[in-house]
Amino acid sequence: MKTIGLIGGMSWESTAVYYRQINEIVRRRHGGLASAEILLRSLDFSRIVALQQAGRWDQAADTLAQIGLQLAEAGAECVLICTNTMHKVADAVEVKAGVPLIHIADVVGHALKDAGAKRPLLLATRYTMEQDFYRARLAERFGIDAMVPAADDRGLVHDVIFNELCCGVVRPQSRQAYQDVIERGRQAGADAVILGCTEIGLLIGPEHTGLPVFDSTLLHAEAAVDFAEGQPERMQRVA
Ligand code: GLU
Repeated sequence: MKTIGLIGGMSWESTAVYYRQINEIVRRRHGGLASAEILLRSLDFSRIVALQQAGRWDQAADTLAQIGLQLAEAGAECVLICTNTMHKVADAVEVKAGVPLIHIADVVGHALKDAGAKRPLLLATRYTMEQDFYRARLAERFGIDAMVPAADDRGLVHDVIFNELCCGVVRPQSRQAYQDVIERGRQAGADAVILGCTEIGLLIGPEHTGLPVFDSTLLHAEAAVDFAEGQPERMQRVA
């Protein structure tokens, strides 16, 4: 099995889900004591948030790219950035690391396309919902026209991510608020929901909405295991 490199800590609440999920998939597939070969570099999220808030994506790109290179030099055969938002700098990371980067939007795009979803509602940070790097990739590579909530709802979704979920706080009131946002999306024509932030799965699951749910964290973790097992088919489709 190939070694998976994880650039994590953004936040560690969701990196913990990646670690567990990747290992659980390997156990399910192989049984017994089988587990994944993983190199994890977990960084101080407060540093990255400060760069996001200052708009210093160039510095964030340098930081993550350097970590990607360190992982590759330590033996990682692929890298995953364990956050949707920081895929804004994914190209820089892949170039510097020199090993395949499993892009979270590609993994989500394939799953949506395979399921026949055409107009998913994207729930994510403001950066992911409002900038182009994620939705444009879904549109260009997969023909998927992701919609986003209205401005107030985008603010709510973003604030719950940073003020609660990334701090380990899961509130029933926030779950209800997210369910209301999803319902407004459904009424506006959404046929699916993308949990396009790696912490949202801590709050919302398929049991909380009637729409099909695409959890970026779980899909990304599964794609990592596919790669590690040398299933080139999925990676080729991603490329
Ligand atoms: N984990 C979140 C995401 O998937 C937000 C944290 C970040 O800003 O990187 O986008």
